[in-house]
Amino acid sequence: MAEINNFIKTIMQNDLAEGKVEAIATRFPPEPNAYLHIGHARAIITNFELAKAFNGSTNLRFDDTNPAKEDQEFVEGIIEDLAWLGYKPNNVFYGSDYFEETYDKAVLLIKKGLAYVDDLSQEEMSKYRGTLVEPGKNSPYRDRSVEENLKLFEEMKNGKYKEGEKTLRAKIDMSHPNINMRDPAMYRILHIPHHRQGTKWCIYPMYDFAHPLQDSFEGITHSLCSLEYDNHRILYDWFIENCEMPHVPHQYEFGRLNITNTIMSKRYLRALVDAKKVMGYDDPRMPTLCGLRRRGFTPDAIRNFILSTGLSRINSTVESFQLDEELRNDLKLKAIRPNAVIDPIKVIIDNYPEGQVEYLDCPNNQECEEMGNRKIAFSREVYIEREDFIEEKPNKKWKRLALGVEVRLMHAYFITAVSCEKDSNGNVTVIHATYDPATRSGSGFDERKPNGNIHFVEASTAIPTEFRLFEPLMLDENEDNKDLDFMERLNPNSLNIFNGYVEESLKDASVGTHYQFVRNGYYVVDKDSTNGKLVINRTCGLKSSFKL
Ligand code: ATP
Ligand code: MG
Repeated sequence: MAEINNFIKTIMQNDLAEGKVEAIATRFPPEPNAYLHIGHARAIITNFELAKAFNGSTNLRFDDTNPAKEDQEFVEGIIEDLAWLGYKPNNVFYGSDYFEETYDKAVLLIKKGLAYVDDLSQEEMSKYRGTLVEPGKNSPYRDRSVEENLKLFEEMKNGKYKEGEKTLRAKIDMSHPNINMRDPAMYRILHIPHHRQGTKWCIYPMYDFAHPLQDSFEGITHSLCSLEYDNHRILYDWFIENCEMPHVPHQYEFGRLNITNTIMSKRYLRALVDAKKVMGYDDPRMPTLCGLRRRGFTPDAIRNFILSTGLSRINSTVESFQLDEELRNDLKLKAIRPNAVIDPIKVIIDNYPEGQVEYLDCPNNQECEEMGNRKIAFSREVYIEREDFIEEKPNKKWKRLALGVEVRLMHAYFITAVSCEKDSNGNVTVIHATYDPATRSGSGFDERKPNGNIHFVEASTAIPTEFRLFEPLMLDENEDNKDLDFMERLNPNSLNIFNGYVEESLKDASVGTHYQFVRNGYYVVDKDSTNGKLVINRTCGLKSSFKL
């Protein structure tokens, strides 16, 4: 596996060398308001791999300070996804577990004259805030006495006020060039029960206030976040200093990961689920980690993909086919390569004995001898891919079956197509062929060269299978941040279902097993499989479909 290497690693190295920190401590702080997506994988892998590189530690901390959107379902999903990626946090903490200490720190700031209770409404506050080019104005409530602020804040906590009626704000500088420093909100009133705290609290701390304190409580040394928090760092440091935190963490920002044709914001993913445009958060077309897992991507492929994208202080957009490339690298020598026919057409081999089924040797993976062999069935009736047959051979390049043309059925016999039956629309329904017993695979027959090798599945032992093939959910490039109606830009053909067959050896295939179907691509068994029918998702093709 690739080793992590980036500018944050250099910072950590220097901090250790200069004795600024004794050990590296990082944290991954998701908000449990949705499932994790591949963008989060960058944050996860960066935090865990960097700490690991220095024998440090990484906490999982649920940033659950906004009860409006958070839910236990997401907490469990995040824990599962992290474990699946192969990371075990040193501790699992919840931001809400620090509500008491956080409250005490707010009281400390009030006592120091550095926080006040404001009665301005949300709209008024934003009017008072000023703009990038104009300073803000002080709130008329800014000069309340410490005693009054302490009393009002306690009353806020005790539920005396309605939502929006009062806000606790830091008293910094309403004309500060950085708008985040213009008396940012620290606590708001929300009469909403919390998924862990129940109705104990009706005031909730804002991210900018809670986060640095949580980092400090946990002894985090390097607090890594994405670039949009860049101009919040000054406030982060202000809270750490003025709350007199004994442990001083530092914030570092890195660029966000975007992927072409991929929607990556939780808000949009949630909208897709709510509008039932997808099967759920784990729909194989979703960029969520549970969706990618169901699609057949492996933890190693995701990790190598993330590491290969590097890390810098610039947001980056990566081509989605690069993830496919990592999947192929991972599974090439690991996955069994069975036969599957996705769009079947039946071939009847007229000169093969009726009622007979024979078994032939077939390597599990031609490129990996240790994986051994298995037996595949052959008989008078087999399925081949519709696209492997054409009535009249069009040119020399056609290396598949056609009338009067002989091909090798891989690991079985040579067959020659002699005629075909058609339905009233002119579609071929059955191909009649003959086989040559002398050409049995393994017999050393070398008198003729067939016009290509095609795969097949024996009909009487074939397992009916629903193949789900996917295209990107979005029609065009990733435009996350543009607030166009993205529902309009959804690809109407992102899911294509084929009903075909896989060979008998997949009879007991379990959900999540990866296969490379011969001449086709990488696939994984889906949880929708039933006793009578397999459901198999296509992860990606055998070769990059990317064209320059
Ligand atoms: P979104 O913007 O998708 O709603 P978020 O940033 O609000 O996500 P959090 O749960 O707060 O989601 O994210 C946890 C961590 O993951 C944060 O540190 C965040 O910066 C990081 N993160 C989220 N998306 C990406 C991304 N696309 N690239 C890199 N890091 C990301
Ligand atoms: Mg966030």
